[in-house]
Amino acid sequence: DPSISPRVNAVKPSKTVAISDLATSLVQAGVPVIRLAAGEPDFDTPAPIAEAGINAIREGYTRYTPNAGTMELRQAICHKLKEENGITYTPDQVVVSNGAKQSLAQAVLAVCSPGDEVIIPAPFWVSYPEMARLADATPVILPTSISDNFLLDPKLLESKITERSRLLILCSPSNPTGSVYPKGLLEKIAQIVAKYPRLLVLSDEIYEHIIYAPTTHTSFASLPGMWDRTLTVNGFSKAFAMTGWRLGYIAGPKHFVAACGKIQSQPTIHQTDTQFTSGASSIAQKAAVAALGLGYAGGEAVSTMVKAFRERRDFLVKSFREIDGVKISEPQGAFYLFIDFSFYYGREAEGFGKIEDSESLCRYLLDVGQVALVPGSAFGDDTCIRISYAESLTTLQAAVERIKKALIPLS
Ligand code: PLP
Repeated sequence: DPSISPRVNAVKPSKTVAISDLATSLVQAGVPVIRLAAGEPDFDTPAPIAEAGINAIREGYTRYTPNAGTMELRQAICHKLKEENGITYTPDQVVVSNGAKQSLAQAVLAVCSPGDEVIIPAPFWVSYPEMARLADATPVILPTSISDNFLLDPKLLESKITERSRLLILCSPSNPTGSVYPKGLLEKIAQIVAKYPRLLVLSDEIYEHIIYAPTTHTSFASLPGMWDRTLTVNGFSKAFAMTGWRLGYIAGPKHFVAACGKIQSQPTIHQTDTQFTSGASSIAQKAAVAALGLGYAGGEAVSTMVKAFRERRDFLVKSFREIDGVKISEPQGAFYLFIDFSFYYGREAEGFGKIEDSESLCRYLLDVGQVALVPGSAFGDDTCIRISYAESLTTLQAAVERIKKALIPLS
């Protein structure tokens, strides 16, 4: 479209839109579709957090806040990053934004020059390559395999580094695979990063708390020599079931983080002197302070949700292992299962046609099984399909029955 800027034209339309539109139209037509496509917890925001937001409104805490976030929240974030992640930051090394997504996008814009390369292991969260394109940078996609639990091979990483390499985006625990990078592997990656001074790591830790013991989370910035090479992104959406509150943050060396803040809003005495959005919601920030006050790793409110996610993961892994031909890497975190269904590609379904790829299999499972899932092609891996288990165990049981039944004519 020549009437739109080339930068925006470069952003690819989401492949998941067509199938999610189809799911919506089926639901509107009264078809009882089970939707396992969402990227958000099915839980309500824990009561003490919600109360803090309500109190903020009642007390008139409803005005602009400083661009980088309130001092109270940034101090609480610094405390959390020290206690839980072993990384030391001061409040001027933290910028709070309207969701981790904004923090990530601003970071890519702040550090990439046109033509820079952004290294993204696949399967990846759908937005990373588009964020790179919006910054006039080039996404460099590095495949991983299910037999390596979808973890990046450090040798492959090193072989793809060029003088244009600017950013490596890591996501652990991962959306869409649920894989968690072990500390030993992160250390190997850190040794490589150390050799290339222009390369930075953008570490997306949004699923940090949704992790299944004994697996543990390691923050990349906590590794020796990596503090000044890392931008750490985290937020409140997933662990605290706060997707609609829109609050995330970035922490890192001051000059990078200040550049992120500059994109968000020029920090002057005029708080309305905005670039993109200005400071995040005052109400959500009060709620976030309460969330961080719930105790280590979100205390009991979060561990109760993680326990439920774990039960569901166990049920789904066991159920799908019983299905012919599918391959699974047991996820250690987040609330997704990324299952290799390529065994079914090339098969014919009566009245439907040929199953060609992840998209047509998803279409088939929606048509015949009435279950909405996301094709792996959206995440850069066409062999797989993503199932979100942010739904009750009863719903998941019904979904598994439907999927199993729909696959019978294909085997
Ligand atoms: N990073 C990953 C890997 C995600 O899956 C998501 C949400 O889907 C986000 C970031 C964005 O989180 P937020 O809602 O805080 O913007």
